[in-house]
Amino acid sequence: MQESAAPDFDTAIARLAQQAMARPADTLAELDALARSLGATKPAHAAVHLARVRGLALVYGGDATEGLALLHQAQDGLGEQAPVAARFAVARALSMAYAQLGLPDAALDWANRGLDLAREAADEGLLAEGLLSCGVALSRAGQAERGLQLYEQALPLFLAQGNARSAVSVLNNLGVNLKNLGRAEESLQRYEQALTLCEQQSLEDLAGVLRTNLPDVLAQLGRLSEARVAGQRAAAEMQQRGHRPGELSARVGLAGVLLEAGEPELARSELDCALVLALQLGDRIEQARITHQLAQVHKSAGRFEQALYMLEQAQDLERRQYSADFERRMRAQQAQTELASARHDATQERSRRTELEQVQLELMRLNERLQAADREKSRLLARLAEESRTDALTGLANRRRFDERLADEWRRLRRHHESRFSLAVVDIDHFKQVNDSFGHQLGDAVLRRLALLMQQGFRASDLPARLGGEEFCLLFPDTELASAASACEHWRQQIQTHAWGALHPRLTLTVSIGVAEAREADSLEALLALADQRLYTAKQGGRNQVQAG
Ligand code: GH3
Ligand code: MG
Ligand code: MG
Repeated sequence: MQESAAPDFDTAIARLAQQAMARPADTLAELDALARSLGATKPAHAAVHLARVRGLALVYGGDATEGLALLHQAQDGLGEQAPVAARFAVARALSMAYAQLGLPDAALDWANRGLDLAREAADEGLLAEGLLSCGVALSRAGQAERGLQLYEQALPLFLAQGNARSAVSVLNNLGVNLKNLGRAEESLQRYEQALTLCEQQSLEDLAGVLRTNLPDVLAQLGRLSEARVAGQRAAAEMQQRGHRPGELSARVGLAGVLLEAGEPELARSELDCALVLALQLGDRIEQARITHQLAQVHKSAGRFEQALYMLEQAQDLERRQYSADFERRMRAQQAQTELASARHDATQERSRRTELEQVQLELMRLNERLQAADREKSRLLARLAEESRTDALTGLANRRRFDERLADEWRRLRRHHESRFSLAVVDIDHFKQVNDSFGHQLGDAVLRRLALLMQQGFRASDLPARLGGEEFCLLFPDTELASAASACEHWRQQIQTHAWGALHPRLTLTVSIGVAEAREADSLEALLALADQRLYTAKQGGRNQVQAG
């Protein structure tokens, strides 16, 4: 065996490790080719590095059991005397694998081991890397504050080493954590610092991705118009570069800004674009998030049916995502258990137990969220049902609700011969002239006022309804013709004497009413026709009157 790895092997393996997440299948094929090309004189620890990257690619490709086994084998194969860089690389790969498998505590554990190795070896380069990956693991495990501290330590090291790319990614992570902690001002400072560094070092690709974070943080600071400009710029830039994840996050950020700026329709079109991107990328988490936001947009615009539809879609996506997540974690758990029992590893066993508790906790949280979404759905459904039976202009019952009630009453009448009810059809006199003289808006105001007078002018058990246009109906349960007619006559006089001048000085108004009692007709249709016919008679007889026979 040679003393040190051949430089071209180093380069090749580093490149493959970089692409393993995005293209696991290609990476596996290329690893095979690389292994074959090595020949008899293998560089030192080539097997370990091949196993490390193969393990990662397997995990990213969905084969948790195989992948973890391989990574742990690589770890076991490295003794105390192995170069610290190799041991560090394997520990970091294990951390990345566990993060990918949704086990953040195990990921943190391995990131910490890597950091310890770097500290022991007093290797500044590894130390910076170790601090960064530990910071990421801490942030993922929900310890944003602790993550911040490590990033702060990593930053000067990367800067001193002239590693601008890594320094930018640390600054970006700082920005994200600070924003998540609600420290928007500091977050913005970090993003701006990163952008300056990108400019100095001509790192345009990183700058573009960085800019997608700006709309959110500017909006948090209340700088809405700047946020809007930043969002538009980032979205256009990412689109132009064909960077779909970047474009997606820019559009979602922009949509948030537009919603806050009271532009739900513009927000909606950004979200529609983002949804298409999320579908193309197969990103179910983003799809669910965007669909949820679309539900909010529709809800705030009063489109409850669409809001409900979106909410159901979002729930469905979340359910599918969580069951996939859950399965993935369970598989990882299983792989860990098998490994731990094979090696009687007490540390593994401990961490497995905490992970299991964490999975259970998250399942409980998911359950709560789904229940909350179910409650929201029921509220929307109830509201929708209510809306679909209410006249939007006046708030009275609409034709649908009126017809339902009428059919109920009619059925009751068929069953109990002593039961009775009456019906009145109300039509405003010369309403066309009201519109023509004072405008349609005033016409609408008249309709609303008349509806109010209708609600106030009859018994609570009577049902007033607007059937459309300027035609209203009244249902009088348990009421015979004479009583219904006299209630209508009393109300007709109220309408005639009402102070309509409050709406317009020259406005006066009268109504004509046709009344009929259910017992007078053989069918509902006949009953309605009879009431209509009496209304017609009232009109013919000079309007402003009640006809009941
Ligand atoms: P008549 O005494 O014979 O009932 O005369 P009219 O003018 O009331 O009757 P017609 O059926 O010819 O006209 C009804 C008018 O009601 C026509 C339309 O402009 C008006 N109208 C119908 N629906 C609405 C509405 O929702 N808002 C307003 N402002 N006007 C309406
Ligand atoms: Mg009419
Ligand atoms: Mg009329």
